Amino acid sequence: MYTCPHCLSPTISGWRKSNSALLRPTRCPTYRGKSRISGWGLLVSSLGSEVLLWGGLVVVLLLGNPYALLLIPVSLVLLGSIVNRTFPLVPIGDRMLFNNVLDRPRDDVER
Ligand SMILES: [Zn+2]
Repeated sequence: MYTCPHCLSPTISGWRKSNSALLRPTRCPTYRGKSRISGWGLLVSSLGSEVLLWGGLVVVLLLGNPYALLLIPVSLVLLGSIVNRTFPLVPIGDRMLFNNVLDRPRDDVER
């Protein structure tokens, strides 16, 4: 589990962290605050995925062994794990400021 940037509790799973983005943020189950992986993490994840996918296909064609295709999803999972451990979650929305200042959830925001 990874630390939520709103409440600093380990509530975000690795799957939810690696699938988070600006338009599809992950939501903390405790404070319901939205967050996403950092921009650098998204860049490394996107470019790394492209390199692994296309590079893996070239390697498979050069080797002529179709079982080498199995290395592509394994390497993508490894890349996701490295990105999750290297880059932090960043908070999204106005709840971040309010929670940091008063350290309690807002009542007027829908949950
Ligand atoms: Zn939280």
